[in-house]
Amino acid sequence: MIVGVAAGEDEDVVVERVVEDAHAAELAVQEILGPRTPAEDDPLPFIVQPDRRLLRRFAEGWDGVRGAGRSGGYYVEGGRDGERRAHAVVARGEVGVMAHELAHGRVANLGRHAAELAPGDPVPVPPWLDEGIAEQARMAVLPERRARQVFDTAHSLAAALVKVNDPRARLANLLARRSLHPTDRSGYSLSLDFVGWLGRRLGPGGLRRLALRSARAAPSARRDDRSREPSGGNGAARADWLADELRMPQRSAERAWHASLRPVRRGSRN
Ligand SMILES: [Zn+2]
Repeated sequence: MIVGVAAGEDEDVVVERVVEDAHAAELAVQEILGPRTPAEDDPLPFIVQPDRRLLRRFAEGWDGVRGAGRSGGYYVEGGRDGERRAHAVVARGEVGVMAHELAHGRVANLGRHAAELAPGDPVPVPPWLDEGIAEQARMAVLPERRARQVFDTAHSLAAALVKVNDPRARLANLLARRSLHPTDRSGYSLSLDFVGWLGRRLGPGGLRRLALRSARAAPSARRDDRSREPSGGNGAARADWLADELRMPQRSAERAWHASLRPVRRGSRN
């Protein structure tokens, strides 16, 4: 990670805190995805804006990203004006958002490495897994009470959807999603809860393996690559790699996950 700070007043204190946050965010991401290997270690420029207002102005003016003032940060990549770009921007003091966006950069890196794609190519990891991992990293860096709140809120919403048999809580529908918008609370909550369940079930290294396998199975993965998952392109929609990693069919995984979705008593809203 390369960190740039728009410091403003009390620069020494500001920079010191940003450095502390960056270290904490990096540790949180490593806790979820393991240490970086040299091959996966593309530098990720990280810009820290003084507050959410300036973050929003920067996001709209430079990256054309809307809604950053609400989310507290964003990760952006892809081509623009014939130039490849990949960077993250956060408002100062938002260590949870920092870990979340850093995790996106790391997942993109892992995915491209696994699928043998060039820097700046679209991330081949499915959005539910990408956002779910980013949310796990956010919870890992937050103080325990706040992390608990984040989990309870997502868990309660996911449990409520399961209770009324909402189609969005069907695993096949979640896995088939092609995008997740930041304002889509149910999508984020379901992803956070399901990926948390996967992480507990698979143990250390499990989420990292899933990110790698999903990227290899993605339709965009090189077709002439023999190390690719045998299930190939269609396997991405069916997520055979997920059933294989869990050692159970998708239907059983859905039942086990849904059974874990009991409403929590202190479910809070924010
Ligand atoms: Zn995200």
